Amino acid sequence: MRFATVRLGEETVPVLVTPSEGLISLRTFGLDSVRELVEAGPDVLAQVAAGSDTGSDAEPVGTLSDATAVLPPIPDPRRNVFCVGSNYRTHILEGDRPRDAPLPPVPVIFTKPYTSLSGHGAKVPLHPSATEKVDWEAEIAVVVGHGGINIAEEDVLDHVFGYALGNDVSARDLQRAGGDSRRQWFKGKSLDGHAPMGPTIVAADEIQDPAGIEVELRVNGQVRQRFQAKDMIHSISVIVSYLSRGMRLMPGDIVFTGTSDGVGLWHDPPIFLADGDVVEISSPQLGVLRNTFVDVDGLPEQ
Ligand code: MG
Repeated sequence: MRFATVRLGEETVPVLVTPSEGLISLRTFGLDSVRELVEAGPDVLAQVAAGSDTGSDAEPVGTLSDATAVLPPIPDPRRNVFCVGSNYRTHILEGDRPRDAPLPPVPVIFTKPYTSLSGHGAKVPLHPSATEKVDWEAEIAVVVGHGGINIAEEDVLDHVFGYALGNDVSARDLQRAGGDSRRQWFKGKSLDGHAPMGPTIVAADEIQDPAGIEVELRVNGQVRQRFQAKDMIHSISVIVSYLSRGMRLMPGDIVFTGTSDGVGLWHDPPIFLADGDVVEISSPQLGVLRNTFVDVDGLPEQ
């Protein structure tokens, strides 16, 4: 099953996306948002699965191509998006750290505010008043289902609702403004619209082996990043278990799990996004997340 939040005409509708791209409104099941579905737990998810089967009463409200906008799958998370930095060896090695610097012993956590989320197809502002160096980072996003505290690594996958693609868009000049790449992560990662996510959440039961998720990022059609989840230094199980130690995770929490090599900052010479650039992140398991970057200040245009 895949879930999305779309705009049909003027209305924002949480939907199940069928294999043939039909949209079944979650309101059919008394749910007003994808977050409500996640919070409702596995019994309600099973009801939605049964109720949306071919031949059931649930009528599609349209198809994905009818949507006037695809919003972030969970546009209204209860708190910031958790992110992991420095989680791929190739990304660490392409940077300016000494070659023999130790790898992070634990997942390095930072966050992006939920106001940074934007959806598939959104025009993402480059915010020229704030930054001149906007960069891409393709990532695998994990959506927490059943929450909990002190979740054991071996139990983590039972706590995952699903997976999506994410782009941890980064304003490098803001991120490095303190003279050190690790001083201003939050500000550099948090501009409005700078966390495209989607196009849907693919439910965990469709992903037999999360380590096998493959991701490719293209800028204007040119491949810049290509990696698999199994290349992570800290796996999804380690990340979620670590986050949950002493800190309760809640249904609908979102975790971006880090990026590989191939970001613009470490290209020679560096490349940053410019007006009209199209960033497309694709995955055989998770679909295609496409955004155009536009040289304006202000909010993302969905
Ligand atoms: Mg990142």
